[in-house]
Amino acid sequence: MKVLWDGAVCLEKGPERLYLDPKRRRPQAIVTHAHLDHMVEGAVMTPQTRDIMVARSGREDFPARVVPLDGRSAVGGFEVELSEAGHVLGSAMVKADDTLYTGDFNTFTGITCGAAAPRKCDTLVIEATYGSPRFVLPDQEGVVSDLLSWMESGLEEGSVILGSYEFGKAQDLVALANSIRAPVVVPDRIGAICDVYRRHGVTQDCTPLSRAGDVLLGSPHVLVTSRRELKHPVPEHIGRYRRKGAAAAFVSGWTAFMNYGNSHDIDVQFPFSNHCDFNRIMDFVERCSPRKVYTVHGSCEALAAEIRSRLGIDAEPLE
Ligand SMILES: [Zn+2]
Repeated sequence: MKVLWDGAVCLEKGPERLYLDPKRRRPQAIVTHAHLDHMVEGAVMTPQTRDIMVARSGREDFPARVVPLDGRSAVGGFEVELSEAGHVLGSAMVKADDTLYTGDFNTFTGITCGAAAPRKCDTLVIEATYGSPRFVLPDQEGVVSDLLSWMESGLEEGSVILGSYEFGKAQDLVALANSIRAPVVVPDRIGAICDVYRRHGVTQDCTPLSRAGDVLLGSPHVLVTSRRELKHPVPEHIGRYRRKGAAAAFVSGWTAFMNYGNSHDIDVQFPFSNHCDFNRIMDFVERCSPRKVYTVHGSCEALAAEIRSRLGIDAEPLE
């Protein structure tokens, strides 16, 4: 089997091609999770990913071929197996014959999904979001406990606002607020994604803004919203929260390496991520013990160089 780049990761076996996370429709494709750059119709995906795509696109009839996590299926001439990627609800790693493609993945036990486990393979195609040695995140359990204490003390003074990605991180934040029994309000489009999590058995106790009412909105609560709502200049309803003294935080792994305090109306930032950092990526590669590694998305060159020098494994960027 050959691994190549054709606008996306592409596996080639004789006359057959299998596309992984393509940006446009392909005859044989697998979409690993429902982040917006992967909303491709007609692909193989997990039932959770399909349900999120339906919620995000508003199309009940969103075409997909559903294969469950830990399920196997023949896709063209490829024997395919999907397993937990630990990134967001329904995110999958793809094993096609003896090649493993991680997609976006995380080995830290997720708050609203499982964790990715290494798998022995001949060829590994791995995402390099935090693939440079300078991208080492602080201990994630410590970050979560700092975030919880900040939320608790903020709620003693009034409401708190958490800004993050709408799908994945936002649902983690709802679950964390639930763990301290704080009332949670979300914009309706985030609420629609929380509904899908609930249907798949993940606790998401939150009220959409359109149904929140004066009593809930008039007492201290957690508003989990999208990051762009905290960007200067903030929309009117966020301004109202802030004028009433609500504390605001931005939650993203990138805050470990960048200060968002000037571009965003926030008091604090928490480096909590749904991706593996550099150390976790290296550990994962070592435990998969592949013969060959291809790096994709992000710090591809840097990661390939580190894998060659530290692990002695043949590695190169695919893009
Ligand atoms: Zn993603």
